[in-house]
Amino acid sequence: MRLPALLLGALLLSACSASEGPAADAGTTAASASSTPSPSAPASSPGAEPTGQSAPGEPASPAPSPASSPSPPSSPEASVPGIQSSPSEAAAASDPAGDAPDSLSDPSSIGVVVNKQRPLDPPGFVPAELVLPRVALGPSAGSALLRPDAADAVERMFAAAQADGVGLTVVSAYRSYTDQESTYAYWVRQYGNAALAETISARPGYSEHQTGLAVDVGQDDGTCTLATCFSGTTSAQWTSANAAAYGFIVRYPQGFDGITGYSWEPWHLRYVGPEVAGAMQAGNIATFEEYFGLPAAPGY
Ligand SMILES: [Zn+2]
Repeated sequence: MRLPALLLGALLLSACSASEGPAADAGTTAASASSTPSPSAPASSPGAEPTGQSAPGEPASPAPSPASSPSPPSSPEASVPGIQSSPSEAAAASDPAGDAPDSLSDPSSIGVVVNKQRPLDPPGFVPAELVLPRVALGPSAGSALLRPDAADAVERMFAAAQADGVGLTVVSAYRSYTDQESTYAYWVRQYGNAALAETISARPGYSEHQTGLAVDVGQDDGTCTLATCFSGTTSAQWTSANAAAYGFIVRYPQGFDGITGYSWEPWHLRYVGPEVAGAMQAGNIATFEEYFGLPAAPGY
């Protein structure tokens, strides 16, 4: 499916929770990479109509899906005590930088968990270093900046995908607090309802993209960019199977809205390092909240 330009523009502004806004203005090494299209531009885009961007048979992409949201996660792993009891140690042990013991709360840690109950602290946190990964950028890409470790992992993951004949692009990565203010405000205007907007867009200071560890990926031909139908693409299937080996998880999986607080976003990857990502995949643990034994965060 090809998204109309206006719609794509609107999606790029924020579709995904932490999300899709244009770009970056903060990284110390990023000045040259931060062209910043104004998020206010497409405010009148008809494409932002909540149910407008679904593919046939697919739930609307950034559209909230109240029907599925309340459904309790069915994951049996939620109650596996052996896993919940020591995740902090697991995160610390897997973190070669040694930035534990509060690595779940420290936004400079690759193990930080950000959700609607866990804002960045400080709210205006800016990663110490942001770099542009040397990979293909998607059409209308917002900021593709990432922390160096995540950028390096993206480069290796994309190269591996390419070797398998799968073309990935970066659609959006780092977003500053200010970027998220614009993105969030845009979606609240579009929905006319903050509660609905918040199923797909984070409040400023609560966006995982602000950590420099989140990246929205797309297929190189633009198929289903930032739409749930992306899950049917070869890119998404490859990512789902292989991202963990490079330290990424699909942060907002399908059916876990009640835990993560966000609708399904098969394109939103979060870097957490290969040990944690691998353990989650091996244990079939879908969310950070479950893996780290943290409370569900369905709302603020
Ligand atoms: Zn995202």
